[in-house]
Amino acid sequence: TLTSARRPEIKTALPGPKATEILKKDAELLSTSYMRPFPFVPHQGEGVWLTDVDGNTMLDFMAGIAVSTTGYNHPHIVQAISEQAARFMHVCLTDFPQEGVTELADRLLAHVRRPGEPWRAFFGNSGAEAVEAAIKLARNHTGRSHVISTIGSFHGRTYGAITLTGSKTKYKRGFGPLLPNVSHIPYPNPFRPPLGSTAETCGDAVLSYLEDTLFKTVIPADEVAAIIIEPMQGEGGYIVPPADFLPKLRALCDRHGILLIFDEVQAGMGRSGKFFSFQHFDVQPDIITLAKGIASGMPISAMLAKESVMTWPVGSHGSTFGGNPVAAAAALATLDLLEGRVQHPGCGENLMENAERVGNFLMAEFRKLAAEYPFIGDVRGRGLFIGVEFVDEQGNPDPKRRDAASVAMFERGLLNLDCGESSIRLSPPLILTLEEAQVGLEIVREALAAVR
Ligand code: PMP
Repeated sequence: TLTSARRPEIKTALPGPKATEILKKDAELLSTSYMRPFPFVPHQGEGVWLTDVDGNTMLDFMAGIAVSTTGYNHPHIVQAISEQAARFMHVCLTDFPQEGVTELADRLLAHVRRPGEPWRAFFGNSGAEAVEAAIKLARNHTGRSHVISTIGSFHGRTYGAITLTGSKTKYKRGFGPLLPNVSHIPYPNPFRPPLGSTAETCGDAVLSYLEDTLFKTVIPADEVAAIIIEPMQGEGGYIVPPADFLPKLRALCDRHGILLIFDEVQAGMGRSGKFFSFQHFDVQPDIITLAKGIASGMPISAMLAKESVMTWPVGSHGSTFGGNPVAAAAALATLDLLEGRVQHPGCGENLMENAERVGNFLMAEFRKLAAEYPFIGDVRGRGLFIGVEFVDEQGNPDPKRRDAASVAMFERGLLNLDCGESSIRLSPPLILTLEEAQVGLEIVREALAAVR
């Protein structure tokens, strides 16, 4: 079987002897790669399990930062990749159209277009590239230059994308000058409401800040090309905004002729239980960026835009590898599983439904743990996009306890990832079964007891 609800198997001290050797080489030879507080060197995947070079097998609750939607080597994805690689591995999309890529565009756009409202796709290689494409398109289409992003956001590390990114200054320090004409507004975080607001009023507070402060004192609304926002904020803490915020932001954009860009790189592709995370709200953007989970780990990204917005001249933007056919084949196969054309044993009709079911279970169990452990201040999310925030006795962020819990989980065989100032994100592969989720929870319980 592809997956089974076994326990992780830790056979050596972590890191083991082989991992230690590779970690040493990595530190000597690579530039900035390794950032985790715990060492792990993967060798073999199997569903939601990863075995390291020393034979230690871990359960995966991070999916390579919300990437490995279908696990590490799903047979359906492997087959699609092999078949396409055996046909041809690359032809430049700027030279020749390709069957698989046009099909991929059609199947992605099917999730967003509406009758009478056609959309188009542009393919790149990474989330940052999709974001760059979105900024370029928004400027080109509107003839305006200013872009507004949010505090706590992450949009990537190329120049446009780091400028938009509003999380950590280390991404920007020493790299300037950045892109001109970018402003940041607070993100409506109901757990830590900005601008003196409350959980209920934080959305409206951000909207009035835009209208009454930013547009009046910093940048006139009619010079703003676009507002880019994660419909659910990822790196910033897995935060879900109030239900009416995005529809009201849409209305604000419409009043001022501003394009609305939803960065779905982390929360999209079924992770939240719906295809796009914005589909939890009654709202439609003008532009969408997608990457990460789109092809189960093969490098491909997409920028989708309304046809009425995708008005840049032919050939004005493109890239050599963007829309690579092998990656596109992996994306199509990933869509098969997400949409239920191909089913995964133990995961119901399709992986979005599975994400919702298993995510609801995990969130309910974490809320019980929050009742038991006062240092868990908040449990939030949708589907398998879940944030768990650690707080001190005053309710302030407690990154130390978060790090201790994260390491305690890792030592017991659960791969996990931080986000925000003091949260852990649960972003497992969407093929995680209820039984496997239960195994993960057992580890979480042991780890929390150990750091209490
Ligand atoms: N947007 C969001 C919302 C992201 O989470 C990320 C990556 N964490 C990016 C963009 C950048 O993606 P990439 O690392 O593929 O460039």
